[in-house]
Amino acid sequence: MRNHRLPAPILPGSAIGVLGSGQLGRMFAMAARRMGYRVHTFSPDQDTPTGQVADVEITAAYEDLDAVRQFGRSVSAVTFEFENVPAATVAAAAEFAPVRPGGDVLHITQHRLREKTFLQAAGLPVTPFRRVASLVELRSAVDELSLPAVLKTAGFGYDGKGQFTIRQMEQLEEAWSAVGEAEAVLEAFIDFECELSVVTARSGSGDFLHYGVVENSHSHHILDITVAPANVSREVFRDAIEISRTVLEKLDVVGVLCVEFFLKKNGTLLVNELAPRPHNSGHFTFDANLTSQFEQQLRAVCGLPLGSVEQLAPAAMANLLGDLWTNGEPNWLSAAAMPNVKLHLYGKSEPRPGRKMGHLTALADSADRARQDVEIARLGLGARAHAVSR
Ligand code: AMP
Repeated sequence: MRNHRLPAPILPGSAIGVLGSGQLGRMFAMAARRMGYRVHTFSPDQDTPTGQVADVEITAAYEDLDAVRQFGRSVSAVTFEFENVPAATVAAAAEFAPVRPGGDVLHITQHRLREKTFLQAAGLPVTPFRRVASLVELRSAVDELSLPAVLKTAGFGYDGKGQFTIRQMEQLEEAWSAVGEAEAVLEAFIDFECELSVVTARSGSGDFLHYGVVENSHSHHILDITVAPANVSREVFRDAIEISRTVLEKLDVVGVLCVEFFLKKNGTLLVNELAPRPHNSGHFTFDANLTSQFEQQLRAVCGLPLGSVEQLAPAAMANLLGDLWTNGEPNWLSAAAMPNVKLHLYGKSEPRPGRKMGHLTALADSADRARQDVEIARLGLGARAHAVSR
């Protein structure tokens, strides 16, 4: 029976607004346009990964609240593709259209300290941490947590930006300056077994779905490879899903949210980070699942029923960073020659080192095989091909 307290669903043909304009917005826009929605994207940039696919690309500062209101007026709902959008921007858009997930979710997850405090209050396991607002406080926090430890900016950090791993007492000043001498979080360094994540979705009526537990390898603090499913025990799987479910319920999320974990050597989990949107570790769902994380975001934001998360085959995803372009254009034919590998490029023209330019997904009959194939495919991109050299 229909729950009459729920707002009416937003149907195909409507326009959906996306704050931000990167690859997550691009893949969201692809999913939305496939289902007949229109997409407006808002960011300070031009010819963006999302803008290239959207119906309308608005280029304005997030602080330009008149432009944000205009954007809010032109769409039926607003979502975001990165969480570092100022709260005032979200509030201005929300005057005209529902923002999903809501501004509270953004407020908590865009600030490490608020996020960790929320997780702790919810009784969920987090990496031991201390708030640090001065070099003196950093010194006493290091005394309490001991070294090594990781110093992270409290706000607006992602992909390891604004992070410094402190190994010796002599590095305290360097670390403090690396985080901009601003409010920060010192975390105990976790000698983890592996890193895991769970991409989840929750509808306005409280339905919860997840894409299972996946294993992530990072390189220089940036996600490198995701393998789905992760090879974990039943207990770890159950704990990861239950923690994720609790996060979504306590935050009352309507949309997609990813929970990133450290799995300790003793088999227990710690929550590292939350991302209230589709996540790099869920990119494989675009090719491997009946409903991708991007379509699921659309469905949740529009008040449609969530789609099946069934995974059609084990999968692995490898990121393509700008470094791959060091010796010229990668050898795309090599990836195209592997029939079980899908190439995704984000339409970015400047391949800077460390910049996410695209990814590959391999599907195979086992997760190990998928991982091997995606690594072979990526290696092939770097190999110069005689056949295609012009
Ligand atoms: P973050 O931006 O906080 O997700 O950090 C990026 C990556 O840095 C993580 O995925 C880990 O590989 C590593 N890292 C971050 N914090 C810690 C920690 N406390 N202990 C060990 N490794 C960490």
